[in-house]
Amino acid sequence: MIRYKCNKCGAAMESPDSMIGKMETCPACNRRMKVLDPVVVKERDRLRQMQSTTFVCAVSGVSKDGRQEIVANCEEGEPIFLQREPDNRYDRNAIAVYVERKSFFGRRKYLQVGYIPEEDAEEIAEAMDSGSLAGGAILYVVGGQEGKYYGLRIVVAIGDTEGELTIDVDGFRVKDVRRAESDELSGEANG
Ligand SMILES: [Zn+2]
Repeated sequence: MIRYKCNKCGAAMESPDSMIGKMETCPACNRRMKVLDPVVVKERDRLRQMQSTTFVCAVSGVSKDGRQEIVANCEEGEPIFLQREPDNRYDRNAIAVYVERKSFFGRRKYLQVGYIPEEDAEEIAEAMDSGSLAGGAILYVVGGQEGKYYGLRIVVAIGDTEGELTIDVDGFRVKDVRRAESDELSGEANG
């Protein structure tokens, strides 16, 4: 027996397995619908849940506020953490980019390396404001001529399932995208 819901009125329905792929009528609202294979439905829902949108961008503001020194010590593949700054006076979509470091006493701290560029920030901010997970990793550390002009190329993914977000760009794979503990982040958020 397959148990499912009417896709119009939501009434609980059931059909024998032999009805898979055939039409059934809702007893409550008379809607005609195809009986779907439950294995297919489950897999489709799982994929939909894991689906993420991916952005590749250059971090902006890497030369300001002494960030070059932090950027110079970044490593390709290391995770980044994003923090919305809805009250930022230059851009209401502002999203600060942080990297995680160990402090002298072995505690985690987050250092700001810059911001998501404006052209990508709007869509990512909208997703974050509606509760989606956004995270990512450093793709490349660029520049560094004469010990300066360092830049960061990052990959950012937005999705709904913490820990399961997988980013795959040109064979570069980041697993286990996670959220920073927000109170740990906010301590550095003015940097
Ligand atoms: Zn119905």
